Amino acid sequence: MRIVARLVLAVLLVFSTFPAAAQEKRIAISFDDVPRQPGGFMTPDERTVRLIAGLHEAGVEQAAFFVTTGNLEQDYGKGGEARIRAYVAAGHVIGNHSHSHGWLTDADPAAYIADLDKAEAWLAGKPGKRPWYRFPYLDEGRDLARRDTLRAALRERGLLNAYVTVDNFDWAVDDLTRKAMEARQTIDLTNLDALYVETIVDTAEFNDRNAREILGRSPAHVLLLHETDLNALFIVDLVAGLRAAGWTIITMDEAYRDPIARMEPDTLHLGGGRVSALAAAAGRDPDTLVHPRTNEAELARLFEELVVVRDAP
Ligand SMILES: [Zn+2]
Repeated sequence: MRIVARLVLAVLLVFSTFPAAAQEKRIAISFDDVPRQPGGFMTPDERTVRLIAGLHEAGVEQAAFFVTTGNLEQDYGKGGEARIRAYVAAGHVIGNHSHSHGWLTDADPAAYIADLDKAEAWLAGKPGKRPWYRFPYLDEGRDLARRDTLRAALRERGLLNAYVTVDNFDWAVDDLTRKAMEARQTIDLTNLDALYVETIVDTAEFNDRNAREILGRSPAHVLLLHETDLNALFIVDLVAGLRAAGWTIITMDEAYRDPIARMEPDTLHLGGGRVSALAAAAGRDPDTLVHPRTNEAELARLFEELVVVRDAP
């Protein structure tokens, strides 16, 4: 009996392992706007402590934190440099997210480049620094002149465009939560956690399906998150949700070694991440490349329906 049971187990393992390997999905995690304004639950210092602990508990070896150096001059930026050092001491890496967090669309390109240089000067020589530039709002320009001027400027500086492949509105859910708390509404944290994780996992799946259609393979993905309270609260559950859906968490260093890191899609549909841009460049209708929950109104509707607790009439 025991031998039969073992054989059955072995057969099951073989059949469950092979398809999984063929379908391997990999994703790295990044956080923008560091140091970010506070949310509704904790101070920025507490947020960093909790986020580092959560990443450790979830077994995330290396995430990236994209620094907006101008935020260090804000009130909430006090202690920001020490928090950035703490992320790096925990094994994570840092990149450039500009000094002033402006839009490239409509900006004077020279001023825009001077602004990213200012951030680069602050970051220079810091431990954990990577030569990566994350465009604020993922705005890579909506005309060819700005787009190509910035592509050339990044090349000259040896900076990689720190693209994402999984754009989502994690910041909008954090904003909704903060506002609900300010309005003294009662929040169902369990439902908020579930909504949060489901939204991001589903958006990752959506972008992976598009990537496989366009590239014929699953690239190393890069998830865009922000330094928010909700990420400090839910990162362990988010990583568990991704793993339950078959994802492997990889380092940001590994993600940016993927060949799509060197692809610059010939399109102006650049604001939804690289998979979306590659798909648009391949002729897909851009309207089909945005996940329904990458939308503030839809998230507000779901938040109201599932998270805000109304007293019985
Ligand atoms: Zn940003």
